Amino acid sequence: MDNLEKHLKILAELGFEDIILDKKVNREDLTKEKEKLLLKIYEEVKKCTKCDLHKSRTQPVFGEGNINARLMFVGEAPGAEEDKAGRPFVGRAGKLLTKLIEATGHKREEFYIANVCKCRPPNNRTPTPYEMEQCFPYLKQQIDIIQPKVLCLLGATAARAFLKRNVAITKERGQIIRWEDKLLYLTYHPAYVLRNPSAEKTLFEDIKRAIELAYSED
Ligand code: URA
Repeated sequence: MDNLEKHLKILAELGFEDIILDKKVNREDLTKEKEKLLLKIYEEVKKCTKCDLHKSRTQPVFGEGNINARLMFVGEAPGAEEDKAGRPFVGRAGKLLTKLIEATGHKREEFYIANVCKCRPPNNRTPTPYEMEQCFPYLKQQIDIIQPKVLCLLGATAARAFLKRNVAITKERGQIIRWEDKLLYLTYHPAYVLRNPSAEKTLFEDIKRAIELAYSED
């Protein structure tokens, strides 16, 4: 059920029989509005100097995909390939992510993909808590506009950014946590799976469950 339907259902349950809309809101208008809002944030990200990461990156990596997606994948920060391309998850880890999404029978383009940090940390180091804190509001705005039902958090760093605490991902993966009016699904980062190939099956099962959760009519 999409957001509009959900709101109408709640209003009906409250006893409203007729709802008069003074302006017809259709899905295309809503998508255009979302595109405009996201573009505005992207322009801000391009000019952002809130932390030092902007000094060493080639370009920010904002995010890409279906802006009406029910599921958003969230990684840590761009790597070298992403920094070059300006697109998230296009390097080795990204290729694995795409392969596993496709193995579930879905397409990468069905979902939105973004990172906690929009700029590549030098030598692919983990972003610092300060860098994540500075960048998180951009991701939060993306989420507020896109309104996915589920956020599939790839790795401990992404999970830490949402939960504001340390996360032991090997213990906590597979967990579904309510966050605001969304669901967080915690799993491994594909780069971890590249280093630990025996975890690939688990990451695949997690992606499959996160997709099922996103499409389920709770
Ligand atoms: N790792 C991430 O966390 N994000 C990317 O976009 C690529 C690799």
